[in-house]
Amino acid sequence: MKKLSSVMFVFVLLAACGSETQETTKLVVAADTVLTNGKIYTVNPEQPWTEAVAIKDGKYTYVGDSAGVTAYVGGATNLIDLQGKMAMAGINDAHVHPVMGAIASLYHCRFPIESDPDEIAKILRGCVAKDPGAEWIIGGQWGSGFFQQYDIESPREWLDAITGDIAVALDDDSGHNSWFNSKALELAGILPSTPDPEGGAIGRDADGEPNGLLLETAARLGGKAVPDWSTEQYIASVQEVLRLAAGFGITGIKDAGAYESAAMAAYHEVDNSLGGLSVHLAANIRTPYGHRIEPLDVTEIERIRDRYATQHLHTRFVKIFLDGVPTPARTAAMLDPYLPDDTHGDQFTGNLHVGLETLAQDLIALDAKGFTVKLHAAGDRSVRVGLDAIEAAREANGFSGLRHELAHAGYIHPDDVPRFAALDAVADISPILWFPSPVIDAVISAVGSRGERYFPVRDLLDSGALVVAGTDWPSIMPTPNPWIGIEALVSRRDPTGRVEGQFWADQAVTLEEAIQIYTLNGARALRLDGLTGSVEVGKSADLVVLDRNLFEISIDDVGETQVMMTFFEGELLPSTEGGQTTPN
Ligand SMILES: [Zn+2]
Repeated sequence: MKKLSSVMFVFVLLAACGSETQETTKLVVAADTVLTNGKIYTVNPEQPWTEAVAIKDGKYTYVGDSAGVTAYVGGATNLIDLQGKMAMAGINDAHVHPVMGAIASLYHCRFPIESDPDEIAKILRGCVAKDPGAEWIIGGQWGSGFFQQYDIESPREWLDAITGDIAVALDDDSGHNSWFNSKALELAGILPSTPDPEGGAIGRDADGEPNGLLLETAARLGGKAVPDWSTEQYIASVQEVLRLAAGFGITGIKDAGAYESAAMAAYHEVDNSLGGLSVHLAANIRTPYGHRIEPLDVTEIERIRDRYATQHLHTRFVKIFLDGVPTPARTAAMLDPYLPDDTHGDQFTGNLHVGLETLAQDLIALDAKGFTVKLHAAGDRSVRVGLDAIEAAREANGFSGLRHELAHAGYIHPDDVPRFAALDAVADISPILWFPSPVIDAVISAVGSRGERYFPVRDLLDSGALVVAGTDWPSIMPTPNPWIGIEALVSRRDPTGRVEGQFWADQAVTLEEAIQIYTLNGARALRLDGLTGSVEVGKSADLVVLDRNLFEISIDDVGETQVMMTFFEGELLPSTEGGQTTPN
Protein backbone atom coordinates (compact mmCIF):
# COMPACT_ATOMS: atom_id res chain seq x y z
CA MET A 1 0.00 0.00 0.00
CA LYS A 2 1.41 3.40 -0.95
CA LYS A 3 1.47 6.07 1.71
CA LEU A 4 2.92 8.89 -0.32
CA SER A 5 1.70 11.68 1.93
CA SER A 6 3.54 10.21 4.87
CA VAL A 7 6.83 9.68 3.19
CA MET A 8 9.52 11.35 5.19
CA PHE A 9 13.04 11.93 4.02
CA VAL A 10 16.03 12.01 6.29
CA PHE A 11 19.68 12.11 5.54
CA VAL A 12 22.11 9.57 6.80
CA LEU A 13 25.79 9.24 6.29
CA LEU A 14 26.99 6.08 4.73
CA ALA A 15 30.45 4.81 5.38
CA ALA A 16 32.63 5.02 2.36
CA CYS A 17 33.79 1.98 0.54
CA GLY A 18 37.42 1.09 0.10
CA SER A 19 40.07 3.33 1.62
CA GLU A 20 38.58 6.58 0.41
CA THR A 21 36.80 8.66 2.98
CA GLN A 22 33.95 9.79 0.86
CA GLU A 23 30.73 11.00 2.37
CA THR A 24 27.57 10.05 0.54
CA THR A 25 24.12 11.22 1.32
CA LYS A 26 21.17 8.91 0.89
CA LEU A 27 17.48 9.50 1.19
CA VAL A 28 15.89 7.32 3.81
CA VAL A 29 12.25 6.63 3.16
CA ALA A 30 9.98 6.24 6.17
CA ALA A 31 9.10 2.64 6.73
CA ASP A 32 5.63 1.13 6.64
CA THR A 33 6.51 -0.87 9.73
CA VAL A 34 9.35 -0.72 12.23
CA LEU A 35 10.02 -3.39 14.84
CA THR A 36 12.36 -2.29 17.58
CA ASN A 37 13.83 -3.40 20.94
CA GLY A 38 13.80 -7.05 19.95
CA LYS A 39 16.22 -9.94 19.97
CA ILE A 40 16.07 -10.73 16.31
CA TYR A 41 17.84 -13.86 15.09
CA THR A 42 18.59 -13.18 11.44
CA VAL A 43 20.11 -16.49 10.19
CA ASN A 44 22.68 -14.23 8.50
CA PRO A 45 26.15 -15.27 9.75
CA GLU A 46 27.48 -11.73 9.14
CA GLN A 47 25.04 -10.31 11.68
CA PRO A 48 23.36 -13.17 13.57
CA TRP A 49 21.54 -11.01 16.12
CA THR A 50 20.04 -7.59 15.82
CA GLU A 51 17.45 -5.41 17.58
CA ALA A 52 15.39 -3.70 14.96
CA VAL A 53 14.16 -3.81 11.39
CA ALA A 54 12.44 -1.35 9.08
CA ILE A 55 10.08 -2.64 6.41
CA LYS A 56 8.96 -0.78 3.29
CA ASP A 57 6.84 -2.25 0.48
CA GLY A 58 7.24 -5.71 1.96
CA LYS A 59 11.05 -5.65 2.12
CA TYR A 60 13.56 -4.92 4.84
CA THR A 61 15.12 -1.49 4.36
CA TYR A 62 17.07 -1.59 7.62
CA VAL A 63 18.41 -4.35 9.86
CA GLY A 64 20.37 -3.08 12.84
CA ASP A 65 20.25 -1.59 16.29
CA SER A 66 17.27 0.18 17.82
CA ALA A 67 18.99 3.56 17.77
CA GLY A 68 19.56 3.40 14.02
CA VAL A 69 16.00 2.44 13.14
CA THR A 70 14.55 5.71 14.44
CA ALA A 71 15.58 7.34 11.15
CA TYR A 72 12.98 5.16 9.43
CA VAL A 73 10.04 6.10 11.63
CA GLY A 74 7.67 8.53 9.94
CA GLY A 75 4.24 9.84 10.85
CA ALA A 76 2.40 6.86 9.38
CA THR A 77 4.89 4.17 10.33
CA ASN A 78 3.45 1.30 12.31
CA LEU A 79 5.94 1.19 15.21
CA ILE A 80 6.06 -2.06 17.16
CA ASP A 81 8.07 -2.35 20.37
CA LEU A 82 9.09 -5.99 20.73
CA GLN A 83 9.96 -5.47 24.41
CA GLY A 84 12.90 -7.83 24.23
CA LYS A 85 11.01 -10.65 22.57
CA MET A 86 12.78 -12.99 20.18
CA ALA A 87 11.96 -12.69 16.50
CA MET A 88 13.44 -14.64 13.62
CA ALA A 89 13.13 -15.37 9.92
CA GLY A 90 9.88 -17.16 9.03
CA ILE A 91 9.87 -20.94 8.76
CA ASN A 92 10.14 -22.67 5.39
CA ASP A 93 8.73 -26.20 5.46
CA ALA A 94 10.42 -28.03 2.61
CA HIS A 95 8.21 -31.12 2.58
CA VAL A 96 4.52 -30.98 3.41
CA HIS A 97 1.22 -31.98 1.82
CA PRO A 98 -0.74 -28.93 2.88
CA VAL A 99 -3.97 -29.44 0.95
CA MET A 100 -4.17 -33.09 1.99
CA GLY A 101 -3.48 -32.05 5.56
CA ALA A 102 -6.14 -29.37 5.60
CA ILE A 103 -8.67 -31.63 3.86
CA ALA A 104 -7.97 -34.19 6.57
CA SER A 105 -8.36 -31.71 9.39
CA LEU A 106 -11.55 -30.20 7.93
CA TYR A 107 -13.35 -33.24 6.53
CA HIS A 108 -11.84 -36.52 7.70
CA CYS A 109 -12.84 -38.87 10.51
CA ARG A 110 -9.59 -38.67 12.47
CA PHE A 111 -7.99 -40.64 15.26
CA PRO A 112 -4.47 -40.42 16.72
CA ILE A 113 -1.89 -42.83 15.25
CA GLU A 114 -1.33 -44.51 18.60
CA SER A 115 -5.05 -45.40 18.90
CA ASP A 116 -5.95 -48.96 19.91
CA PRO A 117 -8.94 -50.77 18.33
CA ASP A 118 -11.34 -49.60 21.07
CA GLU A 119 -10.41 -45.98 20.54
CA ILE A 120 -10.76 -46.26 16.78
CA ALA A 121 -14.15 -47.95 17.17
CA LYS A 122 -15.35 -45.18 19.46
CA ILE A 123 -14.26 -42.40 17.11
CA LEU A 124 -15.75 -44.17 14.07
CA ARG A 125 -19.09 -44.57 15.88
CA GLY A 126 -19.00 -40.84 16.57
CA CYS A 127 -18.37 -40.08 12.89
CA VAL A 128 -21.25 -42.35 11.83
CA ALA A 129 -23.56 -40.71 14.39
CA LYS A 130 -22.62 -37.26 13.09
CA ASP A 131 -23.57 -38.10 9.51
CA PRO A 132 -25.61 -41.33 9.41
CA GLY A 133 -26.66 -40.74 5.78
CA ALA A 134 -23.06 -40.45 4.52
CA GLU A 135 -22.04 -42.68 1.63
CA TRP A 136 -18.41 -42.63 2.63
CA ILE A 137 -16.36 -42.13 5.76
CA ILE A 138 -12.84 -41.12 4.87
CA GLY A 139 -10.17 -40.76 7.49
CA GLY A 140 -7.23 -42.15 9.43
CA GLN A 141 -4.54 -42.62 10.53
CA TRP A 142 -3.92 -46.08 11.88
CA GLY A 143 -0.38 -46.74 13.11
CA SER A 144 2.05 -48.61 10.87
CA GLY A 145 2.34 -51.43 13.39
CA PHE A 146 -1.40 -51.59 14.15
CA PHE A 147 -2.23 -54.90 12.51
CA GLN A 148 0.93 -56.53 13.82
CA GLN A 149 0.08 -55.38 17.32
CA TYR A 150 -3.63 -56.21 17.48
CA ASP A 151 -5.10 -59.49 16.46
CA ILE A 152 -7.88 -58.47 14.11
CA GLU A 153 -8.95 -61.50 12.12
CA SER A 154 -10.64 -59.66 9.28
CA PRO A 155 -9.93 -55.92 9.11
CA ARG A 156 -12.82 -55.55 6.64
CA GLU A 157 -15.42 -57.28 8.83
CA TRP A 158 -14.16 -55.46 11.90
CA LEU A 159 -15.09 -52.17 10.20
CA ASP A 160 -18.39 -53.57 8.87
CA ALA A 161 -19.53 -54.26 12.42
CA ILE A 162 -19.18 -50.56 13.26
CA THR A 163 -20.09 -48.74 10.09
CA GLY A 164 -22.62 -51.07 8.43
CA ASP A 165 -23.34 -50.11 4.87
CA ILE A 166 -21.40 -46.84 4.83
CA ALA A 167 -18.22 -47.25 2.79
CA VAL A 168 -15.09 -46.65 4.87
CA ALA A 169 -11.55 -45.82 3.70
CA LEU A 170 -8.91 -45.19 6.37
CA ASP A 171 -5.28 -44.30 5.62
CA ASP A 172 -2.30 -45.37 7.67
CA ASP A 173 0.23 -42.93 9.14
CA SER A 174 2.38 -43.03 6.01
CA GLY A 175 -0.53 -42.24 3.70
CA HIS A 176 0.61 -45.13 1.51
CA ASN A 177 -1.72 -47.87 2.73
CA SER A 178 -5.48 -48.10 3.22
CA TRP A 179 -8.02 -50.02 5.27
CA PHE A 180 -11.38 -50.55 3.55
CA ASN A 181 -14.63 -52.14 4.71
CA SER A 182 -16.74 -54.48 2.56
CA LYS A 183 -18.88 -51.71 1.07
CA ALA A 184 -15.79 -49.72 0.05
CA LEU A 185 -14.17 -52.79 -1.53
CA GLU A 186 -17.42 -53.43 -3.41
CA LEU A 187 -17.58 -49.85 -4.72
CA ALA A 188 -13.92 -50.10 -5.71
CA GLY A 189 -14.61 -53.36 -7.56
CA ILE A 190 -11.92 -55.21 -5.61
CA LEU A 191 -12.91 -58.89 -5.77
CA PRO A 192 -11.23 -62.18 -4.82
CA SER A 193 -10.27 -62.47 -8.50
CA THR A 194 -8.64 -59.01 -8.65
CA PRO A 195 -4.89 -59.49 -9.12
CA ASP A 196 -2.40 -57.51 -7.03
CA PRO A 197 -1.36 -54.41 -8.97
CA GLU A 198 2.35 -53.99 -9.75
CA GLY A 199 4.04 -52.41 -6.74
CA GLY A 200 1.26 -53.18 -4.30
CA ALA A 201 -0.75 -55.90 -2.59
CA ILE A 202 -4.36 -56.62 -1.76
CA GLY A 203 -4.45 -58.15 1.72
CA ARG A 204 -6.33 -61.46 1.67
CA ASP A 205 -7.66 -63.94 4.18
CA ALA A 206 -6.99 -67.70 4.04
CA ASP A 207 -9.52 -68.34 1.25
CA GLY A 208 -8.27 -65.48 -0.94
CA GLU A 209 -11.03 -63.01 -0.09
CA PRO A 210 -9.72 -59.39 0.17
CA ASN A 211 -9.40 -58.69 3.90
CA GLY A 212 -9.67 -54.90 3.66
CA LEU A 213 -5.96 -53.97 3.68
CA LEU A 214 -4.68 -52.31 0.53
CA LEU A 215 -0.97 -51.72 0.32
CA GLU A 216 0.74 -49.11 -1.86
CA THR A 217 -0.54 -49.20 -5.46
CA ALA A 218 -3.48 -51.35 -4.29
CA ALA A 219 -4.47 -48.43 -2.05
CA ARG A 220 -4.33 -46.19 -5.12
CA LEU A 221 -6.53 -48.68 -6.96
CA GLY A 222 -9.08 -48.59 -4.15
CA GLY A 223 -8.77 -44.82 -3.89
CA LYS A 224 -10.18 -44.37 -7.40
CA ALA A 225 -13.63 -45.24 -6.01
CA VAL A 226 -13.40 -42.64 -3.24
CA PRO A 227 -15.26 -39.49 -4.33
CA ASP A 228 -13.11 -36.42 -4.88
CA TRP A 229 -13.60 -33.26 -2.83
CA SER A 230 -15.28 -30.28 -4.44
CA THR A 231 -13.51 -27.19 -5.78
CA GLU A 232 -15.00 -25.22 -2.86
CA GLN A 233 -13.57 -27.73 -0.39
CA TYR A 234 -10.14 -27.46 -1.97
CA ILE A 235 -10.29 -23.67 -1.81
CA ALA A 236 -11.38 -23.87 1.84
CA SER A 237 -8.49 -26.22 2.53
CA VAL A 238 -5.96 -23.76 1.07
CA GLN A 239 -7.44 -21.03 3.28
CA GLU A 240 -7.11 -23.38 6.25
CA VAL A 241 -3.46 -23.98 5.30
CA LEU A 242 -2.83 -20.23 5.35
CA ARG A 243 -4.50 -19.91 8.77
CA LEU A 244 -2.40 -22.73 10.22
CA ALA A 245 0.80 -21.48 8.59
CA ALA A 246 0.38 -18.03 10.12
CA GLY A 247 -0.24 -19.62 13.53
CA PHE A 248 2.92 -21.68 13.34
CA GLY A 249 5.13 -18.94 11.89
CA ILE A 250 5.44 -20.60 8.48
CA THR A 251 6.03 -18.21 5.60
CA GLY A 252 7.23 -20.69 2.99
CA ILE A 253 5.84 -24.06 2.02
CA LYS A 254 7.00 -26.69 -0.42
CA ASP A 255 4.05 -28.87 -1.40
CA ALA A 256 5.80 -32.20 -1.87
CA GLY A 257 3.33 -33.53 -4.43
CA ALA A 258 0.64 -31.24 -5.80
CA TYR A 259 -2.17 -32.71 -7.88
CA GLU A 260 -3.18 -30.48 -10.77
CA SER A 261 -6.95 -30.54 -10.31
CA ALA A 262 -6.83 -30.25 -6.54
CA ALA A 263 -3.92 -28.34 -5.08
CA MET A 264 -2.49 -26.49 -8.10
CA ALA A 265 -5.80 -25.07 -9.24
CA ALA A 266 -6.79 -24.04 -5.71
CA TYR A 267 -3.46 -22.33 -4.94
CA HIS A 268 -3.69 -20.51 -8.27
CA GLU A 269 -7.25 -19.36 -7.59
CA VAL A 270 -6.52 -18.18 -4.05
CA ASP A 271 -3.39 -16.27 -5.10
CA ASN A 272 -4.98 -14.59 -8.11
CA SER A 273 -8.57 -14.01 -7.06
CA LEU A 274 -9.22 -14.73 -3.40
CA GLY A 275 -6.97 -12.43 -1.44
CA GLY A 276 -3.61 -13.98 -2.24
CA LEU A 277 -1.40 -16.64 -0.71
CA SER A 278 0.20 -15.46 2.53
CA VAL A 279 3.10 -17.89 2.10
CA HIS A 280 5.66 -18.44 -0.61
CA LEU A 281 4.42 -21.67 -2.10
CA ALA A 282 6.58 -24.00 -4.16
CA ALA A 283 4.61 -26.88 -5.61
CA ASN A 284 6.16 -30.11 -6.80
CA ILE A 285 4.17 -31.21 -9.82
CA ARG A 286 3.11 -34.72 -8.90
CA THR A 287 3.89 -37.56 -11.32
CA PRO A 288 2.16 -40.97 -11.18
CA TYR A 289 2.78 -43.26 -8.25
CA GLY A 290 3.84 -46.85 -8.86
CA HIS A 291 5.88 -48.97 -11.23
CA ARG A 292 6.95 -47.12 -14.38
CA ILE A 293 9.28 -47.95 -17.27
CA GLU A 294 8.35 -45.12 -19.66
CA PRO A 295 10.13 -41.80 -19.17
CA LEU A 296 7.97 -38.88 -17.97
CA ASP A 297 6.14 -36.64 -20.41
CA VAL A 298 8.13 -33.45 -19.81
CA THR A 299 5.99 -31.41 -22.23
CA GLU A 300 2.92 -32.16 -20.12
CA ILE A 301 4.82 -31.16 -16.97
CA GLU A 302 5.83 -27.88 -18.63
CA ARG A 303 2.17 -27.24 -19.46
CA ILE A 304 1.23 -27.54 -15.79
CA ARG A 305 4.18 -25.36 -14.76
CA ASP A 306 3.08 -22.57 -17.10
CA ARG A 307 -0.65 -22.90 -16.47
CA TYR A 308 -0.61 -22.40 -12.70
CA ALA A 309 2.36 -20.23 -11.72
CA THR A 310 1.40 -16.98 -9.99
CA GLN A 311 3.22 -14.37 -7.94
CA HIS A 312 3.41 -16.65 -4.89
CA LEU A 313 2.97 -20.04 -6.52
CA HIS A 314 6.24 -21.38 -7.88
CA THR A 315 5.88 -24.37 -10.16
CA ARG A 316 9.36 -25.30 -11.42
CA PHE A 317 9.35 -28.45 -9.27
CA VAL A 318 8.59 -32.10 -9.96
CA LYS A 319 7.96 -35.04 -7.62
CA ILE A 320 8.94 -38.58 -8.55
CA PHE A 321 8.25 -41.58 -6.33
CA LEU A 322 10.96 -44.22 -6.14
CA ASP A 323 9.49 -46.41 -3.41
CA GLY A 324 7.11 -46.65 -0.45
CA VAL A 325 7.79 -46.84 3.28
CA PRO A 326 10.15 -48.96 5.47
CA THR A 327 7.36 -49.96 7.89
CA PRO A 328 5.90 -53.50 8.24
CA ALA A 329 4.34 -52.81 4.81
CA ARG A 330 7.93 -53.35 3.55
CA THR A 331 7.55 -51.11 0.52
CA ALA A 332 10.72 -49.00 0.71
CA ALA A 333 13.56 -50.26 -1.51
CA MET A 334 16.38 -51.39 0.79
CA LEU A 335 19.92 -52.54 0.00
CA ASP A 336 19.69 -55.47 2.43
CA PRO A 337 16.61 -57.69 2.96
CA TYR A 338 13.85 -56.91 5.44
CA LEU A 339 13.43 -59.20 8.42
CA PRO A 340 11.62 -62.33 7.22
CA ASP A 341 7.83 -62.45 7.36
CA ASP A 342 5.15 -64.80 5.98
CA THR A 343 4.25 -62.64 3.00
CA HIS A 344 7.69 -61.62 1.78
CA GLY A 345 10.06 -64.44 2.80
CA ASP A 346 13.62 -63.77 3.92
CA GLN A 347 15.22 -62.16 0.85
CA PHE A 348 12.77 -59.33 0.26
CA THR A 349 14.33 -55.89 -0.33
CA GLY A 350 11.19 -53.93 -1.26
CA ASN A 351 10.24 -52.56 -4.65
CA LEU A 352 11.92 -49.83 -6.61
CA HIS A 353 9.19 -48.12 -8.68
CA VAL A 354 11.45 -46.61 -11.32
CA GLY A 355 14.70 -48.21 -12.44
CA LEU A 356 17.92 -46.24 -12.90
CA GLU A 357 17.76 -46.16 -16.69
CA THR A 358 14.33 -44.53 -16.80
CA LEU A 359 15.04 -42.31 -13.82
CA ALA A 360 18.28 -41.03 -15.32
CA GLN A 361 16.40 -40.09 -18.51
CA ASP A 362 13.84 -38.21 -16.41
CA LEU A 363 16.48 -36.38 -14.40
CA ILE A 364 18.50 -35.39 -17.46
CA ALA A 365 15.40 -34.07 -19.25
CA LEU A 366 13.90 -32.24 -16.25
CA ASP A 367 17.25 -30.76 -15.21
CA ALA A 368 17.77 -29.49 -18.77
CA LYS A 369 14.32 -27.83 -18.68
CA GLY A 370 15.02 -26.05 -15.41
CA PHE A 371 13.02 -28.20 -13.01
CA THR A 372 14.15 -29.13 -9.51
CA VAL A 373 13.21 -32.73 -8.79
CA LYS A 374 12.18 -34.15 -5.44
CA LEU A 375 12.65 -37.92 -5.34
CA HIS A 376 10.68 -39.87 -2.77
CA ALA A 377 13.43 -42.21 -1.52
CA ALA A 378 12.57 -43.81 1.81
CA GLY A 379 14.95 -46.78 1.58
CA ASP A 380 18.74 -46.79 1.22
CA ARG A 381 18.52 -48.52 -2.17
CA SER A 382 16.26 -45.83 -3.61
CA VAL A 383 18.54 -43.14 -2.14
CA ARG A 384 21.47 -44.75 -3.98
CA VAL A 385 19.57 -45.01 -7.26
CA GLY A 386 18.39 -41.41 -6.87
CA LEU A 387 21.98 -40.22 -6.37
CA ASP A 388 23.05 -42.27 -9.40
CA ALA A 389 20.38 -40.54 -11.50
CA ILE A 390 21.44 -37.09 -10.29
CA GLU A 391 25.02 -38.05 -11.16
CA ALA A 392 23.85 -38.97 -14.66
CA ALA A 393 22.19 -35.55 -14.98
CA ARG A 394 25.38 -33.79 -13.84
CA GLU A 395 27.40 -35.78 -16.39
CA ALA A 396 24.97 -35.05 -19.22
CA ASN A 397 24.12 -31.41 -18.47
CA GLY A 398 27.04 -30.18 -16.40
CA PHE A 399 26.14 -28.49 -13.15
CA SER A 400 22.81 -26.77 -13.74
CA GLY A 401 22.63 -25.04 -10.36
CA LEU A 402 19.47 -27.02 -9.65
CA ARG A 403 19.60 -28.84 -6.34
CA HIS A 404 17.61 -32.04 -6.68
CA GLU A 405 16.32 -33.57 -3.48
CA LEU A 406 16.19 -37.01 -1.90
CA ALA A 407 13.01 -36.89 0.16
CA HIS A 408 12.73 -38.69 3.50
CA ALA A 409 16.33 -39.86 3.16
CA GLY A 410 16.22 -41.54 6.55
CA TYR A 411 18.28 -44.52 5.55
CA ILE A 412 21.45 -43.57 3.76
CA HIS A 413 24.26 -46.08 3.35
CA PRO A 414 27.40 -44.54 4.91
CA ASP A 415 29.15 -44.73 1.51
CA ASP A 416 26.45 -42.51 0.03
CA VAL A 417 26.54 -39.73 2.64
CA PRO A 418 29.47 -37.84 1.00
CA ARG A 419 27.82 -38.11 -2.42
CA PHE A 420 25.17 -35.53 -1.43
CA ALA A 421 27.70 -32.71 -1.21
CA ALA A 422 29.69 -33.96 -4.20
CA LEU A 423 26.58 -33.95 -6.41
CA ASP A 424 24.97 -30.92 -4.75
CA ALA A 425 22.04 -33.17 -3.91
CA VAL A 426 19.81 -32.22 -1.00
CA ALA A 427 18.71 -34.38 1.90
CA ASP A 428 15.06 -33.55 2.62
CA ILE A 429 14.58 -35.11 6.03
CA SER A 430 10.91 -35.76 6.72
CA PRO A 431 8.60 -36.53 8.41
CA ILE A 432 9.64 -35.36 11.89
CA LEU A 433 10.82 -38.73 13.16
CA TRP A 434 14.31 -38.16 14.53
CA PHE A 435 13.27 -39.17 18.02
CA PRO A 436 12.00 -42.34 19.74
CA SER A 437 8.44 -43.10 18.62
CA PRO A 438 6.08 -46.03 18.06
CA VAL A 439 6.59 -45.41 14.34
CA ILE A 440 10.33 -45.99 14.75
CA ASP A 441 9.52 -49.21 16.65
CA ALA A 442 7.31 -50.33 13.77
CA VAL A 443 10.13 -49.56 11.33
CA ILE A 444 12.65 -51.52 13.43
CA SER A 445 10.23 -54.47 13.48
CA ALA A 446 10.52 -54.55 9.68
CA VAL A 447 14.13 -53.58 8.94
CA GLY A 448 15.85 -54.82 12.10
CA SER A 449 18.57 -53.05 14.05
CA ARG A 450 19.58 -50.77 11.16
CA GLY A 451 16.29 -49.00 11.99
CA GLU A 452 18.16 -47.57 14.96
CA ARG A 453 20.26 -45.59 12.51
CA TYR A 454 17.64 -43.37 10.99
CA PHE A 455 18.26 -39.76 9.89
CA PRO A 456 22.05 -39.20 9.99
CA VAL A 457 21.66 -35.41 10.14
CA ARG A 458 25.01 -34.71 11.86
CA ASP A 459 26.90 -36.84 9.32
CA LEU A 460 25.14 -35.10 6.43
CA LEU A 461 25.95 -31.60 7.71
CA ASP A 462 29.56 -32.59 8.48
CA SER A 463 29.92 -33.90 4.94
CA GLY A 464 28.84 -30.51 3.58
CA ALA A 465 25.40 -31.61 2.39
CA LEU A 466 22.49 -29.21 2.22
CA VAL A 467 19.84 -30.51 4.62
CA VAL A 468 16.25 -29.29 4.52
CA ALA A 469 13.37 -30.50 6.65
CA GLY A 470 9.65 -30.93 6.49
CA THR A 471 6.80 -32.11 8.66
CA ASP A 472 5.35 -34.25 5.85
CA TRP A 473 1.97 -33.31 7.40
CA PRO A 474 -0.50 -35.05 7.37
CA SER A 475 1.76 -38.13 7.44
CA ILE A 476 2.56 -38.99 11.07
CA MET A 477 2.03 -35.46 12.39
CA PRO A 478 -1.46 -34.17 13.24
CA THR A 479 -0.46 -30.56 12.55
CA PRO A 480 2.26 -28.80 10.53
CA ASN A 481 3.99 -27.62 13.74
CA PRO A 482 7.66 -27.03 12.82
CA TRP A 483 8.87 -26.21 16.35
CA ILE A 484 8.79 -29.80 17.55
CA GLY A 485 11.04 -30.72 14.62
CA ILE A 486 13.55 -28.01 15.52
CA GLU A 487 13.56 -29.20 19.13
CA ALA A 488 14.05 -32.84 18.22
CA LEU A 489 16.86 -32.13 15.72
CA VAL A 490 18.83 -30.85 18.71
CA SER A 491 17.58 -33.16 21.47
CA ARG A 492 16.84 -36.36 19.49
CA ARG A 493 14.21 -36.87 22.23
CA ASP A 494 10.43 -37.18 21.83
CA PRO A 495 9.16 -33.58 21.97
CA THR A 496 5.81 -34.76 23.32
CA GLY A 497 7.58 -36.59 26.16
CA ARG A 498 5.48 -39.69 25.55
CA VAL A 499 8.42 -41.96 24.72
CA GLU A 500 11.53 -42.02 26.90
CA GLY A 501 15.12 -41.91 25.75
CA GLN A 502 17.20 -40.45 22.97
CA PHE A 503 17.33 -41.70 19.42
CA TRP A 504 20.80 -42.01 17.80
CA ALA A 505 22.12 -39.14 19.90
CA ASP A 506 25.35 -38.86 17.82
CA GLN A 507 23.30 -37.25 15.07
CA ALA A 508 22.10 -34.28 17.14
CA VAL A 509 22.79 -30.84 15.66
CA THR A 510 23.02 -27.41 17.28
CA LEU A 511 20.06 -25.08 17.66
CA GLU A 512 21.65 -22.67 15.17
CA GLU A 513 21.93 -25.48 12.63
CA ALA A 514 18.37 -26.64 13.26
CA ILE A 515 17.02 -23.12 12.73
CA GLN A 516 19.03 -22.70 9.55
CA ILE A 517 17.63 -26.00 8.25
CA TYR A 518 14.08 -24.72 8.84
CA THR A 519 14.65 -21.20 7.46
CA LEU A 520 17.44 -20.42 4.98
CA ASN A 521 17.94 -23.99 3.80
CA GLY A 522 14.20 -24.31 3.30
CA ALA A 523 14.27 -21.13 1.22
CA ARG A 524 16.93 -22.77 -0.95
CA ALA A 525 14.57 -25.69 -1.51
CA LEU A 526 11.93 -23.19 -2.63
CA ARG A 527 14.56 -21.54 -4.88
CA LEU A 528 13.83 -18.32 -3.03
CA ASP A 529 16.97 -17.91 -0.92
CA GLY A 530 17.64 -14.57 -2.63
CA LEU A 531 14.23 -13.41 -1.40
CA THR A 532 13.55 -14.99 1.99
CA GLY A 533 14.94 -17.34 4.66
CA SER A 534 16.97 -14.73 6.56
CA VAL A 535 16.56 -11.20 7.86
CA GLU A 536 18.63 -9.01 5.53
CA VAL A 537 18.16 -5.67 3.81
CA GLY A 538 16.44 -6.20 0.47
CA LYS A 539 14.82 -9.48 1.44
CA SER A 540 11.11 -10.07 1.88
CA ALA A 541 10.02 -9.21 5.42
CA ASP A 542 8.92 -12.71 6.41
CA LEU A 543 9.37 -12.59 10.16
CA VAL A 544 7.97 -14.28 13.23
CA VAL A 545 7.84 -13.03 16.81
CA LEU A 546 7.97 -15.75 19.46
CA ASP A 547 6.74 -15.99 23.04
CA ARG A 548 10.15 -17.22 24.20
CA ASN A 549 13.83 -16.89 23.33
CA LEU A 550 14.80 -20.30 21.97
CA PHE A 551 18.40 -19.72 23.01
CA GLU A 552 17.59 -18.94 26.64
CA ILE A 553 15.37 -21.92 27.48
CA SER A 554 15.78 -25.65 27.83
CA ILE A 555 15.80 -27.31 24.41
CA ASP A 556 12.90 -29.48 25.62
CA ASP A 557 10.68 -26.36 25.69
CA VAL A 558 11.30 -25.31 22.09
CA GLY A 559 8.49 -27.52 20.78
CA GLU A 560 5.89 -25.60 22.81
CA THR A 561 6.88 -22.29 21.22
CA GLN A 562 3.91 -20.05 20.53
CA VAL A 563 4.08 -17.64 17.65
CA MET A 564 2.85 -14.19 18.67
CA MET A 565 3.11 -12.46 15.29
CA THR A 566 3.78 -13.61 11.76
CA PHE A 567 4.70 -11.10 9.08
CA PHE A 568 4.54 -12.11 5.44
CA GLU A 569 5.93 -9.59 2.95
CA GLY A 570 5.80 -7.05 5.74
CA GLU A 571 2.10 -7.56 6.48
CA LEU A 572 1.10 -8.73 9.94
CA LEU A 573 -1.12 -11.77 9.39
CA PRO A 574 -4.32 -12.07 11.38
CA SER A 575 -3.72 -13.68 14.73
CA THR A 576 -4.39 -17.38 14.93
CA GLU A 577 -3.77 -17.81 18.59
CA GLY A 578 -3.78 -21.41 19.65
CA GLY A 579 -3.54 -22.54 16.04
CA GLN A 580 -0.48 -24.59 16.74
CA THR A 581 -1.61 -26.34 19.87
CA THR A 582 -4.95 -27.48 18.51
CA PRO A 583 -4.43 -30.62 16.46
CA ASN A 584 -8.14 -30.45 15.47
ZN1 LIG B 1 5.54 -36.60 1.73
